[in-house]
Amino acid sequence: MPLSPLLANYDLVLLDLDGCVWVGEQCTPRAPEALAELRATGKRVAFLTNDARSSPEEYVRKLWSLGMKASLEEVVTVGGAIQHVLAQRAPGAAAFVIGSPAIFRHVVDAGARVVNGTERASRAELVVVAAHDELRFSELRTATRAVLSGAEMLAAGRDRTFPTEDGVSPATGAILAALEYATEAVARSVGKPAPQLFDTALDRLGPGRALVVGDRLDSDLAGAAAAGLDGAIVLTGMTDREQAEAAREPAPVAIAENLHDLLVAR
Ligand SMILES: [Mg+2]
Repeated sequence: MPLSPLLANYDLVLLDLDGCVWVGEQCTPRAPEALAELRATGKRVAFLTNDARSSPEEYVRKLWSLGMKASLEEVVTVGGAIQHVLAQRAPGAAAFVIGSPAIFRHVVDAGARVVNGTERASRAELVVVAAHDELRFSELRTATRAVLSGAEMLAAGRDRTFPTEDGVSPATGAILAALEYATEAVARSVGKPAPQLFDTALDRLGPGRALVVGDRLDSDLAGAAAAGLDGAIVLTGMTDREQAEAAREPAPVAIAENLHDLLVAR
């Protein structure tokens, strides 16, 4: 099956994971075939997610388990984007980290020095903020003190909530709101709709014209526009056709029932 004519305009395809490549534990209809077709025609691919709790390794495993090839380099999490931002700074910066073990590892891999649990914590130069399941009040207290002492805040995102099996949970944006309110500082956020996740993906994939594919107008499409990229919307997630067709500034370059229909000619 040939690719759809839309793809002739692009060398790189940046795919949102949840609601686009998969929904929960199942891939969207014929997503593995569409991905294989993309690769067969030499398009470069990245997989993007605003989720700060899992590591790139876990996403690579999930993609393979659902029948889709992927390399670590191709998976861009907010942790990976945080690492990219931090790696551009002088190495050895003292960082206080709120986040999952995956986030701690990205901070260390960027060359920063994690000062959690040391006397330096409340005088860290950087505070990294990402939602995690074990959040304690003392983390908010230390982060508040560090920011009031001049630390810069770098956040995984501004999402208010995320869905879990038994209901919604507060996301990074909710924790960040507490810190920004306490300190009157404003964090730099790397998660969609900020352009950093896309910038990190392009940094890894190299030059070429890129198409962003996602299921959300407010994060995928708006984030693509912020990064100066075209965006397409699939209807397997958070957006219905009426909403997608009504979207302006930016308007999607294409709307499709699912990823396979978007990428593969019928
Ligand atoms: Mg999504």
